[in-house]
Amino acid sequence: MSKISLQDLGKTFPDGTRALTGVNLEIEKGEFVVLVGPSGCGKTTLLRLLAGLEEPTTGMVRIGGKDALTIPSKDRDLGLVFQNYALFPNLNVFENIAFSLKARKIKKEIIREKVAPIAEKLALADFLQKKPGELSGGQRQRVALGRLLARNPGIHLLDEPLSNLDANLRNSMRNQLAQLHEEHKKTTLFVTHDQVEAMTLGQRLCVMNQGKIIQVAPPSEIYNNPINRFVAQFFGSPSINLFQGKIENRENLVYFSNQQFSLSLPDIPLPETKEIELGVRPENWQIQSNSSSQSIRAKLKRIENLGDAQILYFKFLDTEIILKSSKHDFQTGQTHNLTPDWERVHWFHTSTGERILGQG
Ligand code: ADP
Ligand code: MG
Repeated sequence: MSKISLQDLGKTFPDGTRALTGVNLEIEKGEFVVLVGPSGCGKTTLLRLLAGLEEPTTGMVRIGGKDALTIPSKDRDLGLVFQNYALFPNLNVFENIAFSLKARKIKKEIIREKVAPIAEKLALADFLQKKPGELSGGQRQRVALGRLLARNPGIHLLDEPLSNLDANLRNSMRNQLAQLHEEHKKTTLFVTHDQVEAMTLGQRLCVMNQGKIIQVAPPSEIYNNPINRFVAQFFGSPSINLFQGKIENRENLVYFSNQQFSLSLPDIPLPETKEIELGVRPENWQIQSNSSSQSIRAKLKRIENLGDAQILYFKFLDTEIILKSSKHDFQTGQTHNLTPDWERVHWFHTSTGERILGQG
């Protein structure tokens, strides 16, 4: 019933802003998909089109196989939770959660029976008589979720619901959302600009940029096989190291070189394009004890301690190289020989940014 299908969806606002172009996306019934991308890339617009709060300029929205564009918003069997909660300020927590049930003229006793377990689950049982203004951000956010659960629509649309919460609360709400989905298996489209939130919550991620879908895949696939430089850079913290250069043969050896350094390559599948960009994630470096043509001899400029790991900022001439290491025996000022873990590097087309696979 609640499978979602978007076909060639486009939205241009009256002022000429092109918010979405050629969006194609299928979300299976019961699936949890995270829509992720930088601010302004069209996530909210996509959600609003789906919810019927906005009309598309082109394309088709199908919900459960039916043309949703002919169905008014209130009949689309979906519920929205926004970043700013949108609670009724003059109603208390109980009344906020019960709002849709009351609107459906359900009997008082039954409403109470339905609200109680929801309030319990969301740890709101002690706050039922309070008004939203008397609650913390996390509590308000839970009321908004409670309202959604009480309505019990087939589709959950969540637009950056956790972005106003502090880090600890975000973590716990993230767990709570994952558990709720595990329990209720509602078709869910969750919007965020936060890569960690996306990675940890989504069964599949839909990565957007500038009004277009760039890649749709499970989190590990997005991280390990990004379709282009944009996706590779968006996920991972610190971001992937990128070096422009070319692959060249010299005296029977193959090198990746640019104006700053030259690295001899082992026998790995290499792209055929010669002008190329090399991508190495901070966790994909090896430190060699000896200096050789296989490594860059770089100086450690700065250390950031994350507790369980260290971020190491190296420099060689004007090239900055960022490493992530779980070892703790580094000191600034030291020089180390750095070699990419060649099995894990990515190659990108310098001009288009597309990822290129190695051959042979
Ligand atoms: P996101 O949620 O990813 O941050 P939005 O969907 O809110 O992005 O916005 C996508 C683009 O459309 C942005 O450039 C935004 O300024 C523009 N936009 C959003 N709503 C309107 C509107 N009602 N009129 C004109 N432009 C809009
Ligand atoms: Mg938005």
